Amino acid sequence: MMAESYDVIIVGAGPSGSTAARFLAKDGAKVLVIDKRQEIGAPKRCAEGIDISGLRNVGLEPDSKWAVNEIDGAVLYAPNGKSVPIDPKGMGYILERKVFEKHLAALAIGAGAKYMVKTEFVDIVRENGKIAGIKAQHLGMKFTASAKLIIAADGRESKVAKAAGIDTTNKLKDYHSGFQYEMAGLRKIGERKLHIFFGNDVAPKGYVWIFPKGDGIANVGIGIVGTMSEDGKRASDYLDKFIASKPEIFAGASPIEINAGGVSVSSGLEKICADNLLIAGDAAQLVNPIHGGGIALAMHSGMLAAQTALDALEKDDFSEKFLCRYEKQWEETRGKRMRKLMKLRMFSERLTDYDLDALAEILHGEDIMDLTDAKFTGFVKLLAKNPKVLALAGKYLVS
Ligand SMILES: Cc1cc2nc3c(=O)[nH]c(=O)nc-3n(C[C@H](O)[C@H](O)[C@H](O)COP(=O)(O)OP(=O)(O)OC[C@H]3O[C@@H](n4cnc5c(N)ncnc54)[C@H](O)[C@@H]3O)c2cc1C
Repeated sequence: MMAESYDVIIVGAGPSGSTAARFLAKDGAKVLVIDKRQEIGAPKRCAEGIDISGLRNVGLEPDSKWAVNEIDGAVLYAPNGKSVPIDPKGMGYILERKVFEKHLAALAIGAGAKYMVKTEFVDIVRENGKIAGIKAQHLGMKFTASAKLIIAADGRESKVAKAAGIDTTNKLKDYHSGFQYEMAGLRKIGERKLHIFFGNDVAPKGYVWIFPKGDGIANVGIGIVGTMSEDGKRASDYLDKFIASKPEIFAGASPIEINAGGVSVSSGLEKICADNLLIAGDAAQLVNPIHGGGIALAMHSGMLAAQTALDALEKDDFSEKFLCRYEKQWEETRGKRMRKLMKLRMFSERLTDYDLDALAEILHGEDIMDLTDAKFTGFVKLLAKNPKVLALAGKYLVS
């Protein structure tokens, strides 16, 4: 016997789940959101950066309660220390994610969604072979709930999608080990900029970031490919070494929080829909493969999943064939670009420190913006024009 029945059950109250819940509830769907955490938004596993377009795309305007620091650009540092400033088209923000995620949940609840925290997904319930609900556990009490549709928004290596028979394992090559301190007491750092440091000694095939939150507080983190570098050092070893090497920024600073977590740098699962199931956000590996940023993409996919779910409720059709319009919409709006960026990621992982230093000499901020926008023609022309980096064209073409 199922206790309660819903139109849609969403597992995971992160950015993707709560955005889907808001759009569904706003249009009158009966929605349940469960999350295993006792506090939505905590602990954070995130550097908390997002740009204005990512917020506006899902109908949000920045609010200083959760968008705590305004960012007007970035500075990239080559291994030899040369810096390349970037001026993006729009503003960016550093979020206080613990507040932001609660805000997203409050908006969904205000629209009519029901939330249950400290409620862990245990398994899928099937009726006549079809997904018909979930088994979950709330404060040690097991219960079942039925729904016409489940949205798996339960983050990396989704247990929900796995239970439905979809392989969500992150391939090792598409996985970055992330380690981060939120630190207080930083000095001499431009607080309106993101700071990103490259180099084999700094972060092999990855980078170190400083995302300032204002008042000398910043997320200081690292992402490196795989679980360990070739010389056996962990991400945290590299980060500690980096911090020790920059007393002009970090002397007197201390961590006030440690955040560790895997970062998917994939461009999406092959399949993100099935009968009675949609997969959103990190659960579907819908992240930017260059840097693993996924908040805006998670919210976008949550919004698209909600639109498809509303159509399915209207037509009373929850077949894979019908639901896969979600996959098509994703592909058209973001997917194609993410797959192009994957090629850029493969190229960047082939670069030596010498290559990075040489690129810092020829690339300007706008060239880098074009690259991250998946516009590669200008870059190829630049390589061809500069004998010093012409050899890189080969590395680019084989990636
Ligand atoms: C170190 C690091 C730094 C990052 N920095 C940035 C950044 O600066 N900018 C950016 O855009 N992105 C960043 N990201 C990525 C970003 O955090 C994710 O892309 C984003 O959180 C995805 O949102 P989501 O809602 O899909 O999943 P999540 O935020 O992972 O939410 C999943 C939710 O599901 C819940 N859940 C999981 N399993 C169960 C279960 N069995 N039962 C019930 N609930 C469950 C979890 O508790 C969680 O609340 C970073 C990631 C890491 C690891």
